[in-house]
Amino acid sequence: MMNVIVAKTAGFCFGVKRAVDIVSERANETGRPIYTYGPIIHNETVVSDFESKGVRVIEENSDLSGLAPGVVIIRSHGVSKKVMDDLSTHGFEIVDATCPFVLKIHKIVQEYDNKGYHIVIVGNANHPEVEGIIGWIPSQKYDCITSAEEFFDLHIDPKTPVCIVSQTTFNYDKFQELVEIIKQKGYDICAKNTICSATEERQKEAVEIAGQVEAMIVIGGTNSSNSKKLFEIASANCKNTYFIQTVDDLDLSVLQSIDDVGITAGASTPNKIIEEVQKKCQK
Ligand code: SF4
Repeated sequence: MMNVIVAKTAGFCFGVKRAVDIVSERANETGRPIYTYGPIIHNETVVSDFESKGVRVIEENSDLSGLAPGVVIIRSHGVSKKVMDDLSTHGFEIVDATCPFVLKIHKIVQEYDNKGYHIVIVGNANHPEVEGIIGWIPSQKYDCITSAEEFFDLHIDPKTPVCIVSQTTFNYDKFQELVEIIKQKGYDICAKNTICSATEERQKEAVEIAGQVEAMIVIGGTNSSNSKKLFEIASANCKNTYFIQTVDDLDLSVLQSIDDVGITAGASTPNKIIEEVQKKCQK
């Protein structure tokens, strides 16, 4: 039988668990519509389960005027100030499940923008978390990058004070490296490593496990940024790394001659899916 190592940090992080628990509690309320602003997590099973209990998803940036006012739960990624204001203006009660790690970034960008720093966000500009962060920069002067090269392409005057923050799920080592390269070129930067500790620990454990096994399985949603980063990290340390969304995607034939397999999962992967994958590997 295959020896299976499941990462202790696999699955729901505290921010996602908190948001999902809030929706579970509110889903039982009657009398008012309950919405989430965007899918509560990057997991279709969990979202459709909530939908069957009457929780509706408001598509991001959609017109709010046609919706019956009710309770809107903000997911752990957070939203921009404008979205918060629009929801209030349209009479929705806001339940804010934004992860405290993300709220911290909203505060940093407001504070440093007000102090005259140029804000640079290291991460994916199209990810909802980053869109939310951008929406808290009062001057709206900012740039998004994913590498030191992209920073230099911005041609920022080296005398301009720059505050660099990271998307919570960015690759920890890459962020540190990028900051070092920029500092060495003499830029006046204030770097805030805002990668959350849950992400950092999950990535470190993925490296450790991937280094000991012959094959690695990363479970996560295809839209999940932190799961994709985990796959990238695990692949760099174990060439037989597979990305799956559910147990149905797991092709055991590729693991036929494998004795040791590692499993990790992104922050929005329910435990049930991790257990199903583990059982299938141990059959
Ligand atoms: S990954 Fe980190 S920042 Fe995102 S919800 Fe989880 S704990 Fe919060």
